[in-house]
Amino acid sequence: MYGAGIDVGSTQTKCVVLDGNGEIVGRGLRMTGADVVKASEQVLEQACAEAGIETHEIVYTIGTGYGRFRVATGDDQVTEISCHAKGAVHLFPGTRTILDIGGQDTKAIKTNARGEVVDFCMNDKCAAGTGRFLAAAAEVMGLDVSEIGPVALKSTEELKITNVCTVFVESEILNQLSRGRKREDILAGVHRSIAGRSASLLRRVGVEEELTFTGGVARNPGMVAAVERRMKMKVNASEDSQFMGALGAALFALERAMAGVRRKEQEVQG
Ligand code: ADP
Repeated sequence: MYGAGIDVGSTQTKCVVLDGNGEIVGRGLRMTGADVVKASEQVLEQACAEAGIETHEIVYTIGTGYGRFRVATGDDQVTEISCHAKGAVHLFPGTRTILDIGGQDTKAIKTNARGEVVDFCMNDKCAAGTGRFLAAAAEVMGLDVSEIGPVALKSTEELKITNVCTVFVESEILNQLSRGRKREDILAGVHRSIAGRSASLLRRVGVEEELTFTGGVARNPGMVAAVERRMKMKVNASEDSQFMGALGAALFALERAMAGVRRKEQEVQG
């Protein structure tokens, strides 16, 4: 039996396929783009190809993320907040607090040991402190988002980035570059600024260990280090951090598929 979770984010769409034992057997990832339906179909195909199965072998699919209602193959939808909590506690059972930094929003989530949401809060509408802010900094530097974290880790001199606005930070970076400041120091400042905003959000829900970092930005080692330094605690992050919402959705899918099987068995017996 296979279950799938499809997380249609504002920036990237992710899919996880689980086998009946809850093991990840396939993943799919692509930019969401303008065609949300196509993005969700393609990530499912990618994940099934990796799992070595056909899409019709998936018994149940849950859609999550901002585009969850556009997942044509979805049997049901669950919010990304519930899915991140479910996925994070599955991967790191000690998780009680989650920091999710995605392409355009940041969330702080409190969970219990069963992966149920206890409390959460989100950044305001603006992109400050999100992946978009880091992407803007990367663009000005002529780097890919996957390169800025490792560069920031080489910083030797502290430099404060004062702008939190994605538009104004670009000119601040250009200004610092023209003054001869090193790009690693500027980038470290950008990472510290996001860690600071994340810390304020986390304080609003109250931080309880363990803290798990999810979302695409958790793939940035410079960001993981900046959050650890700011929070003065070890942070759980993994290669699958960006798939956490899709993983949670796939776990919900598997639970519902199993419940369906049990119901049918009871009907047959009764
Ligand atoms: P959403 O669900 O909002 O679409 P994600 O959680 O998928 O967002 O995260 C997307 C963000 O993750 C992108 O804006 C990008 O900045 C960042 N990201 C993705 N891959 C990497 C990577 N390899 N290294 C650093 N950052 C990454």
